[in-house]
Amino acid sequence: MRENPVVPAPFPGVDALAAPPRPRSWPDPALLGAPIGGPKRRLEGLHALGLHTRSDLLEALPFRFEDLRQVRPIAEAILGGDADVTVIGRVGAIRERPTRRRGLRILQTTLSDDTGSVTLTWFNQRHLARTLEPGARLVARGTLKLGARGADLAVRSHELLDGPDDAEPAAAGGLVPVYHASARVSTAVLRGLVDDALRDVGDRIPDPVPVDLRVRHRLPLRRDAITAGHRPRRQGEQRTARRRLAYEELLLLQLALLLHRDRVDARGGAVPLGPPGALSERFRAGLPFALTGAQERALEAIDRDLDSDRPMQRLLEGDVGSGKTVVAFAALVRAVEQGGQAALMAPTEVLALQHLRGAERLLEPLGIEVAYLSGDVPERERRVRRARIEAGEPVVAIGTHALLHTAFPRLEVLVVDEQHRFGVAQRAQLSGGEGPVPHVLHMTATPIPRSLALTAFGDLDLTVIDELPPGRQPVKTSVVPEAKRADGYAWIVEQVRAGRQAYVVCPLVEESAEVEARAAEEEAARLAAGPLAQVRVACAHGQQPAAERQRVMAAFAAGDLDVLVATTVIEVGVDVSNASVMVIEDADRFGLAQLHQLRGRVGRGAEQSYCLLYASAEPTPEGEQRLDALVRHRSGFELAEIDLAMRGEGRLLGLAQSGASDLRHARLDTDRRLLERAREDAARLVREGPDDVVRAAAEERFGALIQALRRA
Ligand code: ADP
Ligand code: MG
Repeated sequence: MRENPVVPAPFPGVDALAAPPRPRSWPDPALLGAPIGGPKRRLEGLHALGLHTRSDLLEALPFRFEDLRQVRPIAEAILGGDADVTVIGRVGAIRERPTRRRGLRILQTTLSDDTGSVTLTWFNQRHLARTLEPGARLVARGTLKLGARGADLAVRSHELLDGPDDAEPAAAGGLVPVYHASARVSTAVLRGLVDDALRDVGDRIPDPVPVDLRVRHRLPLRRDAITAGHRPRRQGEQRTARRRLAYEELLLLQLALLLHRDRVDARGGAVPLGPPGALSERFRAGLPFALTGAQERALEAIDRDLDSDRPMQRLLEGDVGSGKTVVAFAALVRAVEQGGQAALMAPTEVLALQHLRGAERLLEPLGIEVAYLSGDVPERERRVRRARIEAGEPVVAIGTHALLHTAFPRLEVLVVDEQHRFGVAQRAQLSGGEGPVPHVLHMTATPIPRSLALTAFGDLDLTVIDELPPGRQPVKTSVVPEAKRADGYAWIVEQVRAGRQAYVVCPLVEESAEVEARAAEEEAARLAAGPLAQVRVACAHGQQPAAERQRVMAAFAAGDLDVLVATTVIEVGVDVSNASVMVIEDADRFGLAQLHQLRGRVGRGAEQSYCLLYASAEPTPEGEQRLDALVRHRSGFELAEIDLAMRGEGRLLGLAQSGASDLRHARLDTDRRLLERAREDAARLVREGPDDVVRAAAEERFGALIQALRRA
């Protein structure tokens, strides 16, 4: 084998003196921004993989390595009797045939070296037939079996060793990188392109991480990390390399977030509300329960924020049912007791109405004016309420995004409930205008892991309510087999007889809300005519006229209905404490957060509550895993961690739509400590003033993304 043309530099990164001069700007367009050249067809293939520039190539590290150090001559592998072997050779004739099992295909060829040959067998690798050619050199790893007609290798992994543009890839360490490739661009082609890039610029890649941080965390230089990430010479080098790049990525993201926050803060302009006053005290005294310790701590943090002209930007996280609403109400009271205005914005009418009911109970008795604004309030009435708000009267406005069409001349506190449902642009709209900059409290519907919160909402301060009100019993959760469906209904009737109420959530229909609504109505009719004929059943869904839906929800809340058949309109926030049974149809098709949210609709009173999960006809393995997780775990935070581990962080920043890339190297489920470190380091950099290079690198990598997200 020839020597690999790219020889990675050693890892000198822990030595500050070895650092190359820091670049004057970031990025260097000639060095890293240079577009990849080559034939048109190949370029199209590269672009489809998201690879446009030299930098893209260098950042796209291999996802695994084929270890050539395990390779043995074929004869020796056969004689050795080991089940698990790696061999290299030339490919012979290729045969493809279907098997008896429908849809499954088998691909076979021989692989020969100087000492002997084996038969290679792949199952269901259709596209392989197109890339594999007789005479190609191939490394294959798998399970060896000896049969009457010779040695057979069931291939687990393999790599073509020479594509058309490929230099001999056997790196000095015998680790052959395997890239995310496609039918148009093979991993061998990518290896060649990366080799070129490394040879051309590999030793000139600048490093945005300040030297002292790199030295403190004993991280290699970026240039060495990039080289070793592609062409490690020893096992483990690529892990060090990835870790270094992940740290950098997290540092730049945290820095970009905190710099963004700084810019927002610098505008100042919030009204400092001082310490809580008499009205706040009366609010607290009027609550029908004592606040939990976690609620108290949240309020202390909020009170501190409100006492500053730096606008509050706090994310309030808590498990379903942890009591975020009273905390939010307390914040609203703080504005009106000063003669200012406050607003609470909810993502749906159902939820906004529920907050209105809460406000009627908790705020109006204190003499606080509450103004409800949503699409379903008649236009004339809306105009009257809007006029009063626009005249600057001290009110608590509650509503949906209908609030956004109102100018608040004295808006001092804004609470955004279930904020992930709002476009952030909409939020900015409300807080803009002529008046003061409001203090903003954001609330999430379901808990998200801290690592995710720091990433997606890293420009906000974070308060976690990590305690449920006393006396809550865990909701008994079970997956009900189809054969027991009738028993399930009989049992619901029993519960109703005992004075309880139940929800039945209908299957998600992703294609169409109309179809979903119709299915819910049919299910309600079916239940009312059959298994639940003895109890009072009604239906609520998003396609009903608002007034109709409100009537149903109100009747259910008042206990005039026993069973509410609904689509996910009840997912968020609905609070009927007498409801103690939640039935979810096709439960495996819901996301884990959504399931937890739905289950959170029961278990709000002192009674034992139940969640019955009916699976769809053909659940996927992931679907079953989700149900299993829900049965076993009560805590929303734990479920959120499981969800994160199951789904990965692909859509973390909520950017699925924008198509912007999220994180390339860091993994939020496993890099938590690295993230915490990056967060601390970024915070210190911001305090002390980051140098131009790291600042520019952060803006370059994440600035536009954050701007787009926050639109502020
Ligand atoms: P979430 O955090 O899911 O929005 P809510 O604010 O809707 O939770 O509160 C859930 C239920 O718990 C409500 O019925 C509320 O009145 C009640 N609650 C809130 N705080 C307490 C407390 N400290 N003690 C007892 N019950 C509480
Ligand atoms: Mg809530």
